[in-house]
Amino acid sequence: MNKDIATPVRTRTILEKYGFSFKKSLGQNFLIDTNILRKIVDFADIGEHSGAIEIGPGIGALTEQLARSSKKVVAFEIDQRLLPILSETLSPYPNVKIIHKDVLEANVQEVIDEEFTTLKDIMVVANLPYYVTTPIIMKLLEERLPIRGIVVMLQKEVADRISASPGTKDYGSLSIAVQYYTKAETVMIVPKTVFVPQPNVDSAVIRLTRREKPAVLVKDEGFFFQVTKASFAQRRKTLLNNLTSQLPDGKQKKEEILSALHESKIEPSRRGETLSLEEFAD
Ligand code: SAM
Repeated sequence: MNKDIATPVRTRTILEKYGFSFKKSLGQNFLIDTNILRKIVDFADIGEHSGAIEIGPGIGALTEQLARSSKKVVAFEIDQRLLPILSETLSPYPNVKIIHKDVLEANVQEVIDEEFTTLKDIMVVANLPYYVTTPIIMKLLEERLPIRGIVVMLQKEVADRISASPGTKDYGSLSIAVQYYTKAETVMIVPKTVFVPQPNVDSAVIRLTRREKPAVLVKDEGFFFQVTKASFAQRRKTLLNNLTSQLPDGKQKKEEILSALHESKIEPSRRGETLSLEEFAD
């Protein structure tokens, strides 16, 4: 087997050879611990018949582990300076394709159709750039891609918010948006010492398993998310206050809002953070 990319010595040698300097603005914190990378791949439960989509391969530390376990890896990398590095470090893995693109602008569905024609099991696995974790996760979920799930490293604080339950301080519209589409679990807390450079915040790995059907049935998804966002606009305010002040024409529609709450048996004086997904759907 080839030597792992993700060791402190090999990473330093590669970076020095290419005179690579980290761009903080691109969230470049590379992993230098092979054990952590293997665990991430294990959490994704990838096998020889799986396809993996990676976001931000960096110098290929995680890509390499994915390439060893899966049939094919497609990785989106925004930073052109990494392309020559990746073509050297990943040269032993013909089952890897790097796409030089901002993932937020990519047509991921088209890439899946073209690159994973015969593969039915597709996972997104990544050590995400922390400045765009939420937009990336929401893009992948809202586009309803044919993926089994997402296993990603991100800021622990965001992982806590995503997997939070009602009644906790971390529960909010992000928890609801992600849990609507997936079952969300924090599977590992990761120390800062396994990155170069070390990030300023603690990290965690989450696993999002796509639900066959959304967690709750709603007539109008757009309105559902509008109501959940409005309900958390000011966390200390009551549900009624937030809904009347945040929904379009909310003030004029106060009576309508009150009667909808009454019909759903939800006290208007409750705070948004106490409502379950089912109550929001009601
Ligand atoms: N996977 C590598 C690892 O674990 O060592 C690098 C992870 S690093 C946290 C994030 C990577 O995402 C960097 O390579 C960065 O250049 C890339 N990146 C940042 N923004 C991106 C975007 N919008 N689309 C694609 N890649 C992006």
